[in-house]
Amino acid sequence: MATIIDGKNLAKKIRSNLKIECDELKKKGIVPKLAVIMVGDDPASKVYVRNKSRACDEIGIQYQEHLLSDNITQEELLKLINKLNKDEDVNGILLQSPIPENLDINEAFKTITYLKDVDGFTPSSVGKLCIGEDTFVSCTPLGVIKMFEEYNIDLDGKDVVILGRSNIVGRPLIQCCLQKNATVTVCHSKTNNIKEHIKRADIIISAIGKPKFVTEDMVKDNVVVIDVGINRDENGKLVGDVDFENVEKKASYITPVPGGVGPMTIAMLMHNVIKATKEQYKEKSIL
Ligand code: NAP
Repeated sequence: MATIIDGKNLAKKIRSNLKIECDELKKKGIVPKLAVIMVGDDPASKVYVRNKSRACDEIGIQYQEHLLSDNITQEELLKLINKLNKDEDVNGILLQSPIPENLDINEAFKTITYLKDVDGFTPSSVGKLCIGEDTFVSCTPLGVIKMFEEYNIDLDGKDVVILGRSNIVGRPLIQCCLQKNATVTVCHSKTNNIKEHIKRADIIISAIGKPKFVTEDMVKDNVVVIDVGINRDENGKLVGDVDFENVEKKASYITPVPGGVGPMTIAMLMHNVIKATKEQYKEKSIL
């Protein structure tokens, strides 16, 4: 039986440590603040944004929400981002995706100033990650790496197979795993013989968004499985990309869905807000 990687518990521990750090900052007169921009009223985004606001409350981070109508222009969106860039009271800026298709999300991300890039999506953050410099790492990949560290799962020399190559999960994970000396393979919808790649893996990280895609017959004994996927199965139940019940029997470590990577993502956002706050005050030579 596999060890279940308890993301919920680990995230709770991280949040309580962040609260201590936040209290220390407040003693110095510094109150971290996160500004969240949401365009339109996507129901899933509303849930994500509410969860982020709750996490901020718990830690003591100030939370500011900018709800924009879905007929906003690109110019208006960039104007708001620029205003938040200049606002010295705002330490982190998060643009909740998706935004309406007529708006250019990449241009919007590029407009966020590096030191407030708590999602790690700006070209500066991505570039620094690629050359191995300390930077803001996208929250889900960072959460996955923290799980490996907490459970002493060594990536050195291991065959890591990442399923999915999105900018927010798969791609940054390639760099994160390379930095840990893994041999990384990344699979996507055009990959031939995907099962053969998965079968070779010492560690599988799945982020494709297909319920129960990874099955018991595809994995080798003692594999480590990190399931990033969040899907609904045919009965409306929340499931990952991995057939948990059966893969668990062969795995050495596995994350559940829910209660695995999901809670870690929000904890890492909070981590990035505290990091951004500290770096901004260090730049002003205050910390
Ligand atoms: P995305 O942008 O839709 O990317 C999906 C990736 O999976 C793409 O690279 C795609 O390949 C690949 N893919 C799709 N079908 C495939 C198949 N049959 N075989 C191999 N590769 C396939 O998704 P995302 O935003 O990265 O999210 C992925 C999943 O993770 C979703 O379920 C999402 O809800 C979840 N998620 C969870 C968290 C969390 O906090 N736990 C955070 C973010 C995302 P192509 O590039 O070739 O199209």
